[in-house]
Amino acid sequence: MTKKELVFLGPPASGKGTQTSKLSQYLKFPHVDTGSLLRRAMTEKTPDGLTAQGYIEKGQLVPIEIVASIIKSRLQEEDCANGFILDGFPRSIEQAEMLEGMLKEIDADKEVGFKVVYFDIDQQLLLDRIIYRRSCSKCGRIYNLLSLKPQKEGVCDDCGEELIQRKDDTEETAKARFNTYFEQTAPLIKFYEEKGSLRKIDANGEVDEVWERLLSEVN
Ligand code: AMP
Repeated sequence: MTKKELVFLGPPASGKGTQTSKLSQYLKFPHVDTGSLLRRAMTEKTPDGLTAQGYIEKGQLVPIEIVASIIKSRLQEEDCANGFILDGFPRSIEQAEMLEGMLKEIDADKEVGFKVVYFDIDQQLLLDRIIYRRSCSKCGRIYNLLSLKPQKEGVCDDCGEELIQRKDDTEETAKARFNTYFEQTAPLIKFYEEKGSLRKIDANGEVDEVWERLLSEVN
């Protein structure tokens, strides 16, 4: 069986998190999301989590050594053996080069051949998506107070837990996150285009429309 490795790229709030969680259930490959792994380390107050917190709250990239050690141990777990969906890593050329080295080390006898799916989206809507975004404190399901409201205010439809706003979803931090994205992450589009591994998806529109486009690309 060929290993299915998918890497997702796109600006903050482009819908990557929603679609990659859905895809993970559909393909039965784990959704490896660096943002969530770092937030978990923050909640658990591990040394890496405590260092990461300051960067996350300023909308900056967490130092590469921290992300690398978190992601490497996650990709070596048993459930990633046949494939994984990577969301939020790499976020810079330096991280992209590190990822290739990491995958070669994990699977020395296999060729590194992941597909990169880029969420191409109209950027004007994104700031509103972030400011009105809420997520379930337990299962992580994502809502939007304007476009994707829960049935009961403040409560998750799936598990009944409280909905919370991420600390870095305020307007000021969101703007910093966009700057970080354009300066450090967006150059990866050209980087992967030149390697021939980039697949562009039109990420505008409803969740179901984007889902259909995504399926035709990854199947
Ligand atoms: P996200 O949940 O993907 O929006 O990520 C939230 C925050 O976590 C980002 O704004 C960064 O501060 C940090 N982060 C997530 N992934 C990475 C990464 N690959 N490298 C450095 N920092 C990251």
